[in-house]
Amino acid sequence: MTGEENPFYEYFDEILEICREYDVTISLGDACRPGCLADGSDVCQIEELVRLGELTKRAWEKDVQVMVEGPGHMPMDQIAANMKIQQTICMGAPFYVLGPIVTDIAPGYDHITAAIGGAIAAASGAAFLCYVTPAEHLALPNVDDVKQGIIASRIAAHAADIAKKVPHARDLDDAMGDARRTFDWEKQWECSIDPETAKQIRNDRAPEHEDSCSMCGKFCAVRSMNKALNGEYIDIL
Ligand code: SF4
Repeated sequence: MTGEENPFYEYFDEILEICREYDVTISLGDACRPGCLADGSDVCQIEELVRLGELTKRAWEKDVQVMVEGPGHMPMDQIAANMKIQQTICMGAPFYVLGPIVTDIAPGYDHITAAIGGAIAAASGAAFLCYVTPAEHLALPNVDDVKQGIIASRIAAHAADIAKKVPHARDLDDAMGDARRTFDWEKQWECSIDPETAKQIRNDRAPEHEDSCSMCGKFCAVRSMNKALNGEYIDIL
């Protein structure tokens, strides 16, 4: 059955008429997205992507905007190529990804597996990252799971913005570098994605001296360098 003979397209066109009238953007989901690494870039996924490209074109012809859903689970070495394929087949329509999760053996840590894949995807052209929580594949996320997932996803997106040289994306990182050099802790909290957690860790393991942290104490390399540059005695004993 060709695309034109498929009755689905008649229904889709009717939906497009409504979307156009009310200026609705459609999210074209991918039911065949990879559900484990073994599914990554399989025929089902690519075949569906071709259909999503057709739907994108059809929607644009009716003046309806779309965004397209992407993987899922995927080995790291396939992610960048998938982003390029999507951009080609869907003609640059915004692509949003669920992770992608880059290994299947870290239940409880899938906010991290997803952030690794999300950073690569975003740096390679994904327009939007869906967050994944530590509870993925295990349970309904609670509030803390959601916080962990959103923060991990924000880190991935921010890292990608830096790699893509988005104007001013690195400003806070540069300010953080300066704040670390001068031990300006308030400034460090201001630059942090999650200042509460950062503050709590420092306060829980407070150092003897403000101009260091409890990792190296008096052997703090930054402290020693500041003292050397100021011509001060470096007391490490
Ligand atoms: S004590 Fe060590 S880890 Fe902490 S700020 Fe200084 S050099 Fe860095």
